Amino acid sequence: MSLGNLANCSRCDTLFVKKLRDVCPKCYQEIEQEYDRCAKFLRKRENRGATIYQLSDATDVSVKQITKFIREGRISVLDNPNLGYPCESCGTMIRAGNLCETCGKSLKRLIDQQLEVEKRLEEDRQRAKGIGYRSRKGTDD
Ligand SMILES: [Zn+2]
Ligand SMILES: [Zn+2]
Repeated sequence: MSLGNLANCSRCDTLFVKKLRDVCPKCYQEIEQEYDRCAKFLRKRENRGATIYQLSDATDVSVKQITKFIREGRISVLDNPNLGYPCESCGTMIRAGNLCETCGKSLKRLIDQQLEVEKRLEEDRQRAKGIGYRSRKGTDD
C-alpha cells in the first residue's frame, strides 16, 4: 500500500497528497476565490475592454494566475477583446498558445535547424555504415 502521491503544491510549496490537482486544498480554495473575483470583474460591461494588467490590478490576482485561467479556458479571450497574456519568451500579449508569432517562428526555425543537423548526422552515419559494411554477410558466423 502506498500513502498516495505526496507532492509539493505548485503554488505555496506545501507538501500535500496529490489527487487531481497540482495545488494543495488551501490554494485550490484561494484560486477559486480569485477566479470568482476575475469573473465578477469581467462580467461588468464596462470592464469588457480590460487588459490582463487592469484585471490583475482590479482583482489583486497575479497575471500568472490569470494566464492560467485563460489557458484553462475558464476566462474567455473571445468575450474580452483586449484580454491576452504574455508570451513566455518576450512578454508580448498573445491570446493562444505559449509564444507570440515572432517567438513561435524563431523557435520553429531553431527546431528546423536542429532537425537539419540531426538529419545530416544521420546521413553521415548511414554513409559511414555503407562504406564499413559493404561486404557484410547476412548472418554472423
Ligand atoms: Zn498550496
Ligand atoms: Zn514572444
